[in-house]
Amino acid sequence: MTSGPAPQRQRAREAALARAVDEGLLGPGSPLVGLLDVDGVLAAVEALHQAFDGPATVHHTFAAKACGLVPVLRLLAEAGMGCEVASPGELEQALAAGFTPDRLVFDSPAKTVDELEFALAHGIAINLDNFQELERVDRLLAGREPSGPIGLRVNPQVGAGAIGAMSTATATSKFGVALRDPGAVDAVIDAFTRRPWLNRLHAHVGSQGCPLPLIAQGIRAAYDLAERVNTGLGHARITGLDIGGGLPVNFDSEDDSPGYADYVAELRSAVPGLFDGRYTLVTEFGRSLLAKSGTIGSLVEYTKSAGGRRIAVTHAGAQVATRTVFMPDAWPLRVGVFDAAGRPKEGPLQVVDIAGPCCFAGDLTATARELPAIEPGDVVTLYDTGAYYFSSHFSYNSLPRPAVFGYRTDSGGQVRLATVRAAQSVREVVEESGLSHADSLVALCADDGDSPDSAEYGTKKEVEQ
Ligand SMILES: *Cc1c(COP(=O)(O)O)cnc(C)c1O
Repeated sequence: MTSGPAPQRQRAREAALARAVDEGLLGPGSPLVGLLDVDGVLAAVEALHQAFDGPATVHHTFAAKACGLVPVLRLLAEAGMGCEVASPGELEQALAAGFTPDRLVFDSPAKTVDELEFALAHGIAINLDNFQELERVDRLLAGREPSGPIGLRVNPQVGAGAIGAMSTATATSKFGVALRDPGAVDAVIDAFTRRPWLNRLHAHVGSQGCPLPLIAQGIRAAYDLAERVNTGLGHARITGLDIGGGLPVNFDSEDDSPGYADYVAELRSAVPGLFDGRYTLVTEFGRSLLAKSGTIGSLVEYTKSAGGRRIAVTHAGAQVATRTVFMPDAWPLRVGVFDAAGRPKEGPLQVVDIAGPCCFAGDLTATARELPAIEPGDVVTLYDTGAYYFSSHFSYNSLPRPAVFGYRTDSGGQVRLATVRAAQSVREVVEESGLSHADSLVALCADDGDSPDSAEYGTKKEVEQ
């Protein structure tokens, strides 16, 4: 038997899949499910902490958007992580999961006055995105001292990685203050000079598709700027550097490479001063903590062929694998095939497309893959989908969010499953689709002007104002 993290992860995953099939959590009545390897998640957290172990104080936060599921966030909180949030929903999820405000970092390019006030009132660390937002916080503070750290996000403009839409440090990226634009560095230095409360710099250079040297170069630019600000002011005003997340994940095989140790080694050589303890470091990893621990399992409903191409029709499509379906070259996934009992299939390989249930032709999670023969009733798996896949639902065709289960294998090889999220019911889909306003448009067309629903809208508007 082979050992090490990857084979162990594969064995645990196969056992969990068989168990889910056995218990009917994946089968004809529930044809789509997300599975999360809890030990795998904890191992990734451990690897992260180990890689950064050193004189510098480091606050590791998890980027909630990668998997905004409350039990997952609570698991991460228990494992010693903080949480990076970027919307009111993520903020509430993190608080519900048990993160105390001092363990949160609030990033968003579009923070409202209310959101900023909430963060300021609760001492939540904030990273501001631009000069207008700095001025807004000037007004909100009105001379008060904030109780949490406040940083400014910068865009080092070091260039794009392999996936344009994932590259946050291009010349024209929408995030942060673009440092290489004329006058930008002086404006940032001036902003720090005039605001004693501004004490962090933030750079998230990523994400998937960005090589490590490019990320390190971006962090180097933020570090150099912090040094310049502190030297200019004659004291260590900038006390924290938030270096973001963005470690790319290997979607081609079971290997966890690059790993956090590779990332830190790259940073240590590109920015040696970063780790000497003068700065508190903050990280915001998302994908690399969760991706390899997640699996989507789907029942094969039909198999057919068209124009000589075999097609397996499954229940996993754009609603759970949105990026893969819309950008198949940038986000290919590994696929597995299991029989109706959840056992890995073997036998001669056939070329096949794996289709989802959505009503558009491009709803394919894999094309021209060589896989063992697939039959109706089999299970097809999509690997490395623990981040940004089953947790980031796209409600095309009003397809419901699938159930998600976490699993662990005990020392006797027994798999235990726990519900992370129940499947959304069709009734819930209908309720979220305006059910309680079912008559509103018909009433609007009945031109008497005092229909019940228009009155309700009028009242709501008045309350909001
Ligand atoms: C998305 C995001 C992250 C996490 O990125 P990963 O590639 O998932 O590690 C971290 N910080 C910010 C500001 C982000 O927007």
